[in-house]
Amino acid sequence: MTDVAKMLERIEADNVKFIRLQFSDIEGQIKNVAIPVSQAEKALTAGIGFDGSSIEGFARIEESDMVLKPDMDTYSLLPWRPENAKVARFICDVYKPDDTPFEGDPRYILKKTLARAAEMGYTFNIGPEMEFFLFKMVDGEPSVKFQDFGGYFDLAPIDLAEDVRRDIIFNLMEMGFDIEASHHEVAESQHEIDFKYADALKTADNVVTFRFVTKTIALQNGLHATFMAKPVFGINGSGMHCNCSLAKDGKNAFYDPKAPLELSKTCMQFIAGVLSHAKSITRVANPTINSYKRLVPGYEAPVYIAWSASNRTALVRVPAPRGNSTRIELRSPDPSCNPYLTFAAILAAGLEGVEKDMEPPANATRNIFDMSEEQRVKEHIDTLPGDLYTANKYMTEDDVICKALGSHVVDGLNVITKMEWDSFRTAVHPWETERYLSKY
Ligand code: GLU
Ligand code: MG
Ligand code: MG
Repeated sequence: MTDVAKMLERIEADNVKFIRLQFSDIEGQIKNVAIPVSQAEKALTAGIGFDGSSIEGFARIEESDMVLKPDMDTYSLLPWRPENAKVARFICDVYKPDDTPFEGDPRYILKKTLARAAEMGYTFNIGPEMEFFLFKMVDGEPSVKFQDFGGYFDLAPIDLAEDVRRDIIFNLMEMGFDIEASHHEVAESQHEIDFKYADALKTADNVVTFRFVTKTIALQNGLHATFMAKPVFGINGSGMHCNCSLAKDGKNAFYDPKAPLELSKTCMQFIAGVLSHAKSITRVANPTINSYKRLVPGYEAPVYIAWSASNRTALVRVPAPRGNSTRIELRSPDPSCNPYLTFAAILAAGLEGVEKDMEPPANATRNIFDMSEEQRVKEHIDTLPGDLYTANKYMTEDDVICKALGSHVVDGLNVITKMEWDSFRTAVHPWETERYLSKY
């Protein structure tokens, strides 16, 4: 029996009536087209055509005919849909009519970078820590009204969201997620759910699925889940720490029991590559105007480009576990990012460190936030870009990152940056009226 025939049998056995074909635009927003189950065979063999010209950063009008080809490994039922009309989804790859992969498909960009790593013998594993807020809906609209006033690791009754979080987790588990932990985060109404690491493609698929499921289940509970990086001034924002490691021949390539800190040469080279491209990675890992309101001192988010085996003020931290769990934690990404592009950029940077045998600067053992500007200069500790415009400039000047993302995506990101920056730059913000209206 062919794979397609097996898949069709499974779809029938699951009593599926509709299939959602999902993919992501350049901003990492999930898109989908629903097809009745009668179209399943066509979808799984020839693919389903669609017009890509209206999708953000996707195709130009003259090359708008695109084809969605479901990745059969991503088949999953949507557990919250009714029993009598089951809905399944596939995450798809986007192809051009000439049957070649579309360069504007973020999933393809990640696959291409993973293929490069595979040529060097590596698998790239990532485990993300998803933070988000649950806010109240007011008159049917999302608001920034806190649902609860709990703090780090609080429980009911302070943590009113316990039930919602559990509901989200049950749905994710039914979709095959291996949930490792969940807890109330530091800020009011802020939560974190961690799922098991996997290869970067599976994790990127999981991140987009996670956001979609969390938002859906929150809404069913009358709440708005947001992955915006810094929804409220003065309290912590939401991060998406990325625990990264390379594996070779089935073994963790970052672990070397004989090396200093038990971190292999490959691990050191990878850290060096990531640090040297940190500014341009920021463009994709922190993709909105708002992302940069999170990257400020005092809220557990990174600002300075350094690595540390222990302290959380560095951009790259090495969590304590060793052996097969050896990994580095990149703390800058936020959960509004496009995970496919972000993982591709991190990997391209790390691989360059390995290829060029780069060495990282000395491990920062002190709290960098407590250091004076002078001390930081002396220790060559640079800072992350302070806004989207600057980050975008670093990206466009970085050949390694541009090559990994490809010109189609880089052009698209440039257009988005210009639009966002012009709109933000020319708007008159409440901060300005508060500050200047009476004074002048
Ligand atoms: N919410 C923090 C951030 O913006 C991270 C808190 C933590 O260490 O888990 O990155
Ligand atoms: Mg956290
Ligand atoms: Mg963390």
